[in-house]
Amino acid sequence: MSRVVIIGGGIIGLCTALYCREAGFEVTVLEQGGPDDKPCSWGNSGLIVPSHFVPLAAPGMVAMGVRMLPDKSSPFAFHMPPTAQQLVWSLRFAMNCRASNVAASSPFLSDMNLLSRGLYEGLAARLGGFAFRRSGMLELYQSQESLDHGAHIAKVARNLGQDAEVLDRAGVHGLEPELRPECTGGVIFRDDAQIDPSAVLQTVKQHLESIGVDIRHQAKVVDFEAGTDAIEAVITDDDRVEADHIVVAAGTLSTTVCHTLGVHVPLQSGKGYSFVVHQPPVEHKMPSILVDARVAVSPLEGRVRFGGTMEIGGQLGEVDAQRLGGIVKGVRRYFPAYENVEMPSGEVWEGLRPCSPDGVPIIGHVPGWKNLILATGHAMMGMSLGPATGLVVSELLQGRPTSLDLHLASPARFG
Ligand SMILES: Cc1cc2nc3c(=O)[nH]c(=O)nc-3n(C[C@H](O)[C@H](O)[C@H](O)COP(=O)(O)OP(=O)(O)OC[C@H]3O[C@@H](n4cnc5c(N)ncnc54)[C@H](O)[C@@H]3O)c2cc1C
Repeated sequence: MSRVVIIGGGIIGLCTALYCREAGFEVTVLEQGGPDDKPCSWGNSGLIVPSHFVPLAAPGMVAMGVRMLPDKSSPFAFHMPPTAQQLVWSLRFAMNCRASNVAASSPFLSDMNLLSRGLYEGLAARLGGFAFRRSGMLELYQSQESLDHGAHIAKVARNLGQDAEVLDRAGVHGLEPELRPECTGGVIFRDDAQIDPSAVLQTVKQHLESIGVDIRHQAKVVDFEAGTDAIEAVITDDDRVEADHIVVAAGTLSTTVCHTLGVHVPLQSGKGYSFVVHQPPVEHKMPSILVDARVAVSPLEGRVRFGGTMEIGGQLGEVDAQRLGGIVKGVRRYFPAYENVEMPSGEVWEGLRPCSPDGVPIIGHVPGWKNLILATGHAMMGMSLGPATGLVVSELLQGRPTSLDLHLASPARFG
C-alpha cells in the first residue's frame, strides 16, 4: 500500500486524508497544533458558497482596497510595515485583477464549489453531525452600486447553471423582517449551503481515526529528506516519517513548509475575525452577507456567528479592536436589534486565509518533484472547497482522470 503523508490538519488536509484513505492509501496527517487548536478551518463562517465564483483578484478590487485603507475600522487592511514578499504578492495580485482572470476562473470555481457541496451532502448523510443544510444564502445590499453589482453577479450565476434570484426591498424584508429600511434589495443564491465548521473538523477527524488514518498532533514539519527530484521522508521536530507521496496542505504556512525544498508558494495571509452571539435578538432565517459592510452572518442553533475583515499579511495574536468595531458597526448598520447587544462579549477568533495572487486555489503536482502535491490557496472558500480538493488530490495520486480539469489551479502557473 502506498504511503501518503499530509502536512496540515485543517479542512483541506483532513478531506485529502479521507478520500486518499478511502482509495486504499496508508495515510498519516502531520499537524503542528494540538487537538484543541483552532486553525482557519475552525472558526470561519461555515458558508458553502457556489455563489463565490468570482476570484478575489477581480477588476475594482485594488481601487476598493485603496479607498478603504485610511479607515481603520474598514473591512480591508494591509499589514504595516509590509514585508518584501507581501509587496511582491500585492503587485502580482494587482496584475491579476483583470476581467480575463474572472472570465477564465469563474466556471472552474463554480463547478468546484458545486462538486464540493454535493460531496458535503454525501458526507452529511454518511457521517452526520455537522449541521449541513441546503440553506441558500442571502446577499443584502444598501447602496445602489452594490445592488447593481449583485444583479450582474446573479445573472452570471444563472449562466453558470446556478439558481440565483434578485429580490427587491419587499422581498428581502419578507425574508428578514428585522432589517433596517435602508436595505433596498438582495440576491438569494439557492445553491449555497451551510455547515458548522468546528463540527465538520471533529466529525471528519473521528471518522478518519475509525478508518485507520494516523493523525499526529504537535508534529511540526521542519524539513524533508530529499534526492534530486523525489522526497523520501518528512522530518518533524521529533520524528522522521517515510512517504511515497507528500501533500502540503498547511494553509497559509505552506510557503514556509516548502521553502526548504526551494519551492516558492506565493501565498499571503488574509486575516479575519469571527465571534458568536448567543440568544441573538434576531431570528435569522438563513446565512447572509451584509455586502456593504462585508460581514458574514451564520445562524446556528441558538446562536449566530459574525465574521469579517481581510488584512493582507496579518498575523495571529494581534486582535485589532478597531477592525472588530467595524464588524460590530456593520451588523448594527443592517440589524438595529443588535444596538443593545454587547458585542463581542466572548472569545474573538482569528483566522488566516491562504490567499493566492490570482484568487484561484493551488492544487496539483509541483514541477520538478515526482511525489509532491500542493493543496492550498483557497482564500475565502477553503471550507467550501475542502471535499472537492480532497477528492481531486486522491484522484491525482491514483493516476486517474480528475473530476475537474485542474489546469487553472496548477502550481506550474507560477513558473
Ligand atoms: C473570518 C473568516 C471567515 C471565513 N468564512 C468562510 C466561509 O464561510 N466559507 C468558506 O468556504 N471559507 C471561509 N473562510 C476561509 C476558510 O476558513 C479557509 O480557506 C480554510 O479554512 C483554509 O483551510 P486549510 O486547511 O487550507 O488551512 P488551515 O485551516 O489553516 O489548516 C492548515 C493547518 O496546517 C497546519 N500547519 C501549518 N504548518 C505546519 C507544519 N510546518 N507542520 C504541520 N502542520 C502545519 C496548521 O497548524 C493548520 O492546522 C473564512 C476565513 C476566515 C478567516
